[in-house]
Amino acid sequence: MEKIIIVGTGPSGLTAAIYLARAGFSPLVLEGPQPGGQLTTTTEVENFPGFPDGVLGSELMSNMRKQAQRFGARFRTGWVESADLSQRLFKLSLESGSELETEAMIISTGASAKYMGIPGERDNVGRGVSTCATCDGFFFRGRKLIVVGGGDSAMEEASFLTRFATEVTVVHRRPELRASKIMQDRARTNGKIGWSLNATPLEVKAGGQGLQGLAVRDNETGEERLIAAEGVFVAIGHTPNTSFLGGQVETDEQGYIIVRPGTTETNIPGVFACGDVQDRRYRQAVTAAGSGCMAALDCERYLEEAGSSTAPQTV
Ligand code: NAP
Repeated sequence: MEKIIIVGTGPSGLTAAIYLARAGFSPLVLEGPQPGGQLTTTTEVENFPGFPDGVLGSELMSNMRKQAQRFGARFRTGWVESADLSQRLFKLSLESGSELETEAMIISTGASAKYMGIPGERDNVGRGVSTCATCDGFFFRGRKLIVVGGGDSAMEEASFLTRFATEVTVVHRRPELRASKIMQDRARTNGKIGWSLNATPLEVKAGGQGLQGLAVRDNETGEERLIAAEGVFVAIGHTPNTSFLGGQVETDEQGYIIVRPGTTETNIPGVFACGDVQDRRYRQAVTAAGSGCMAALDCERYLEEAGSSTAPQTV
């Protein structure tokens, strides 16, 4: 039986692990299919305090992991398939068939990339359609590409992809971009980036030779056209990873976990949530890390007040 299980290893989960390990709890941290979370799919992180010259996302996460391990956090690969939170000892079922029991749990499972849900999209994932420029950009050297979306992610992906592509067209469904000014400016001054705004994506077109492009409808004229490209990068936001909870933890209509204001407490005592899985507003590495710290402190207090069944381990 575990005292604390942390599910997810992005900045929030790893910060929670650092705090709890340092407090002598030796938490078990479950790593999913993308250890380190979304930051490992980004390149340079320029806005995490303490790094005046920026830091690689993967390096930042690897350092956080080492820091947690140094104080005694234990890591295990494990995809949680389902959870039974109906009793004080929570039960987690892993895909491998293992069952784990824990007194408290921190959910830091983050959010996964969204797809548009148009014909030809899912069928061509890995064959020209991608949600990760850092992972797949390299394969499109000398090609013409499309990035779908109008937020910071789309600007970042488009700018990054110009390292490889001859031309990147940003396709966005509205005339105005949602992205922050600095990210927009960076993309707008990049000569390799073209714009197809106020255009609704209709279908990813592919043939025997691979991807042909993206069919869109001009929202002003109603006219449909094909934007030719050999790769389509979808950057339209993320969905919180809560399906393994089977509705036991209260979420909003988009699936984000609802926490008691100013805390990381969910509707189930002993279950805490931090990072992007409960944050639809800020979604930054530094806010995720901050909420991971809060979850660790909330969890410690809960175990103290609940009278944990195992003696606290102190270092
Ligand atoms: P986002 O801000 O939610 O933007 C998603 C974009 O995709 C929007 O422009 C949206 O259009 C569009 N979209 C959504 N569903 C669509 C659909 N089905 N078909 C076509 N377009 C669709 O998501 P994000 O860009 O991933 O950013 C998320 C958060 O992370 C933000 O807070 C952002 O600031 C932050 N972030 C920061 C950085 C950085 O600072 N380096 C980098 C990446 C992300 P509408 O505008 O019409 O809704």
